[in-house]
Amino acid sequence: MQVYKFGGASVKDADAIKNVAAIVSAATQPLVVVVSAMGKTTNGLEAVVNAGFYKNGDSKSLLDAVIKFHQDILQQLFEATDDVFTKVNNFWVEIAWALEEEPRSYGFLYDQIVSIGELVATTIIAAYLNRQGTATQWLDARSLIFTDNNYRQAQIQWPQTVLQINQIIAPVCNQNKVALTQGFIGGTSENYTTTLGREGSDYTAAIIAYCLDAQSVTIWKDVSGVLNADPKFFSDAQKLEQLSYHDAIELTYYGATVIHPKTIKPLENKGIPLYVKSFVKPEGVGTVIGKDLQTKPFIPSYIFKSNQVLISIGSKDFSFIAEAGLSHLFGLFAAAGVKINLMQNSAISFSVCVDDDAFALPALLESLKADYRVLFNNGLVLYTIRHYNQFTIDKLLQKGTLILEQRSRNTAQLIMYPNAD
Ligand code: ASP
Ligand code: MG
Repeated sequence: MQVYKFGGASVKDADAIKNVAAIVSAATQPLVVVVSAMGKTTNGLEAVVNAGFYKNGDSKSLLDAVIKFHQDILQQLFEATDDVFTKVNNFWVEIAWALEEEPRSYGFLYDQIVSIGELVATTIIAAYLNRQGTATQWLDARSLIFTDNNYRQAQIQWPQTVLQINQIIAPVCNQNKVALTQGFIGGTSENYTTTLGREGSDYTAAIIAYCLDAQSVTIWKDVSGVLNADPKFFSDAQKLEQLSYHDAIELTYYGATVIHPKTIKPLENKGIPLYVKSFVKPEGVGTVIGKDLQTKPFIPSYIFKSNQVLISIGSKDFSFIAEAGLSHLFGLFAAAGVKINLMQNSAISFSVCVDDDAFALPALLESLKADYRVLFNNGLVLYTIRHYNQFTIDKLLQKGTLILEQRSRNTAQLIMYPNAD
């Protein structure tokens, strides 16, 4: 059993879908295929949710743009009489209904609407595969992936998920059909739709692989594999042939966007290898991440995070920020849902670097100010170098003014004000 995952870029237009169909039909079965929403659909549907919830935009015309994008692709792939048009249309109607109802919460509305991107994409691709002669069973991930009702960041309910995935997917594979389902989405015990966090389709592929004891997972990307830097920022980025699970989880944790950070744990726990390959050059070897593999070539990897804020939290009366204070502070960060990218403490202050999140940060700063002196700098960049050496650090130091530096045995992190260019 293999699991393939195709992200938005791999299904962004009619030609891309044809390419995916070619890769799937050439694969050895049994095969489970996980697909996310097409192109920039998730961003488009997020805009629909925001306009609908905050009543600050025209959700109808925003939705029409998303529908038109899909309609154009459908017309290129199918005859007008194909029943895929009705199936897709029924999903758009669900969005219109969701917008009419009084929402329970922002997160609830978000998940009911944004998930439609994946449901539509998989409906189109399953129909296309079947039309091309690759027998495919469309499966609703909301019956496979059980979650709690923590909307937008739903947590997996593992025992039920293991059970459902085995019960539903095994018979499909026994019929020699490709099992095709949505990434990123799940369902609650009350049958509401949830999402697992942006870019969460990789995680879905890993969950399914874990539950089925798959032989491997392949994530198909628009790059040749895992690179040691984002080619958008580093012109001399190099491909890594193989990576240890440890390096992979650290790189994704620090912000490498090539794989969703939650993907590695389920795979590591079962020793399932993860291949990252190019859907443009499917015959290429890509990168393999797996058990007993050492990172090769063993070169420094760079992660670049812009839009960072450094918050310095100090006691108001010169008292130490000791263990009790830190425990209180971590509680405030957890409650606000703000992830700490780097932290450092001294006698009377605690500094943290976080993403500049317009939603979560103002509330956190308010709650901090109640008990502490709070200063912050924004417009910063956080560089992380895994397997650094002095040369790599010196090179980065030319890119701006250093604010804070931290090194462990394997990882160096630099917070900098970027040079104006
Ligand atoms: N479509 C979702 C997103 O864009 C999930 C994914 O792409 O993995 O975040
Ligand atoms: Mg995506």
